[in-house]
Formats: sequence, structure tokens, C-alpha cells
Amino acid sequence: MSAVLMFGAQMPVIKVGRMAGQFAKPRSEPFEVRDGVKLPSYRGDNINGEAFDEKSRVPDPQRMIRAYTQSAATLNLLRALATGGYAAMQRVTQWNLDFTEHSEQGDRYRELAHRVDEALGFMSAAGLTADHPLMKTTEFWTSHECLLLPYEQALTRQDSTSGLFYDCSAHMLWVGERTRQLDGAHVEFLRGIANPLGIKVSDKMNPSDLVKLIEILNPSNKPGRITVITRMGAENMRVKLPHLIRAVRQAGLIVTWITDPMHGNTIKAPCGLKTRPFDSILAEVRAFFDVHEQEGSHPGGVHLEMTGQNVTECIGGSRTVTFDDLSDRYHTHCDPRLNASQSLELSFIIAERLRNRRIRSSSVLNNILPLPPFSF
Ligand code: PEP
Repeated sequence: MSAVLMFGAQMPVIKVGRMAGQFAKPRSEPFEVRDGVKLPSYRGDNINGEAFDEKSRVPDPQRMIRAYTQSAATLNLLRALATGGYAAMQRVTQWNLDFTEHSEQGDRYRELAHRVDEALGFMSAAGLTADHPLMKTTEFWTSHECLLLPYEQALTRQDSTSGLFYDCSAHMLWVGERTRQLDGAHVEFLRGIANPLGIKVSDKMNPSDLVKLIEILNPSNKPGRITVITRMGAENMRVKLPHLIRAVRQAGLIVTWITDPMHGNTIKAPCGLKTRPFDSILAEVRAFFDVHEQEGSHPGGVHLEMTGQNVTECIGGSRTVTFDDLSDRYHTHCDPRLNASQSLELSFIIAERLRNRRIRSSSVLNNILPLPPFSF
């Protein structure tokens, strides 16, 4: 996916996985009621169990130790995959382009894949051969929501050279939509660590509170420190995002804007399973790009929930998953994820958009550059 995006944007793509750390689950309701029985909500595997019985729902601190060992094992695996040749660029050419057979834009996507293949062929002919470290390794970072403070605090260390504190449970941490109160414990904790930080923002965020929150978390306005991750559904985004962008710009704050088109688009299927329609996800991504184009700001990234497996958790996509298919391969313990084909399809759509944007802005530049300087 990142090779496709890099090709589209002609820019490096920073890859951050929400993995190796997010076991806690933010909940809107403290209790769950089923058939008249009321139990504390399931809060994620590092707190309590999902089974709907009294014993499972009791918080167990040993679960945090298990989350830690599981995260450490996942990080080791990621390191091995990122540096051991599995990330080799040449592997990109083993495309799984199944979705193109079922999509109207199939020919365009196959053409794009072919161009990426050609670019890789050219790079290798120019001397960036398969053995070059650039071609066979990658950098991969991890991130999760800074939700369970006893866990995050226990993994925080002071860097002896800089004196700064880092939460070593992930490279990047974010504050969630439900825990971002200006005077809350989560913001107070995040203020004190030097990791890059994310702020999840729904349509409920008011522009002046966003400015206050950014100022608390990044008082020296350091570029790269703050990523604002918007998640509000396409329609809300078109209305609300311009105000947020303008407020942040007016305050002179430097942030990276990212879209999370997953969390504002969760619905309940008739069978009761949680799902997300591919079209709504796509509509939110499009709204994100449109608004940034209109505001002259930079659409900096996309946050997805996805798996490389062929699950049936989100409906739609070119290899259409319907409501009736959901229960076939619904494997998530948490939120519904895009499957491999839906994820790749989305990255092709975004790459095309980035490419068109680049071409348009370079033709604007070409038109402007030859003009003589103004004289009065
Ligand atoms: C999440 O990203 O897992 C999440 C729950 O996001 P939010 O806090 O925005 O709901």
C-alpha cells in the first residue's frame, strides 16, 4: 500500500502501525445489558475478558503483563520483517490485484500497478539493485491510544542524555476522542512525554478547544509533535473541518492533518454485527482531500483499520462484501477492518488522487514560473 501511495504522491510515506500495544478499548458505556443482565463493559484484553459473565468482566492486572509480553513479541517480529528482506520492494510486484477485475476503474489501477513495476525496474537498472538496503528494508513505527494510564506510566523512562521522558510502549501515542478533556489525566500524562502525539477529533470538537489542546501538548510549537486525526463522517467533515483548519492556522500552530475514515462510519448490520461501509470510508477520504484543497492546507495522511487477510467485516468494495456475507469470516475481536483487497483498492484510489493533485499543482507552478516579475 505504501509503495502505491509513494508512487502517487512522489513523496516518502511514513508507515505507522496501530499494533503491538493497543489492547485497551475506549467505551462509551460503562455497563452492558443483555437479556436483562447488567455487567461492566468489556474494556479490552489488557483489562478484562470479553465473555459475557461476571468473572470475565472483573479487571485483572496480570492482563497488563500479558499485553506487554505480547507487544514485545510483536515488535520483534516487526523488526525481523522490516529488516530481514520481507519488506523488499521487489515483492510489491507480486500484486494481488483481484479487486481490479471487479472494479469499473480496474484498467486504470492495473495501469498504475504497471507503472510502479516499471519505476522499480528503472531504479534497479540505475543501480538500486535488490541488494541495496533501501530496496530490501523499511522503517516501520508503532502507535496506539494512550488509554490505560497505569500501563503507559509503567513503561515511561527518562532518556539519560536529553533528560526527556518517553513512553516506550510505542513510538507515537494518541489521545482518544473520549479522553481528551483539557484538564483530564490523559492530557496531563501526554504533556509530559516527548513522543510524537496524535489527537483524535470528532465533529464534537470545538475549534477553540482544539487550539487550547494543541497549545497544552506542544507549547513550543515543534513541527512533527502533533498529528490531528479527524474522524467524523464525510458530511460532518465538509462542514466542521474547515473551521478546525482555520482556527489552527490562525493560532499559528503547526500540525499534521490525518483522516481516520473508520471511526465515524461504524454501523450495526441487520444481523447485529458492527460493520463499516466501504463507500462511506471512501466518501470521508474524499471529503478530507476536498476540504484541504479548498483551504490550501496539506492532507498529511490516512489512518485505517485493516488486515492483510480475506475477512468479511466491512461491507462494499469492488469484490463486494454484503450484509449477508459478514458472518462468513468476521474475525475481529474489536472493530471491523478492511480486508486485503479493500485496503489495496483504497490505496489505489488515494494514490490516483495524490497523483492528480501533484500534476495539477506542478502545472500551476509551470504556468506561474515563466511570468516576468511584477513591476509597479
Ligand atoms: C480508536 O482509534 O480505536 C478509537 C476508538 O478512536 P476514537 O477515540 O476516536 O473513538
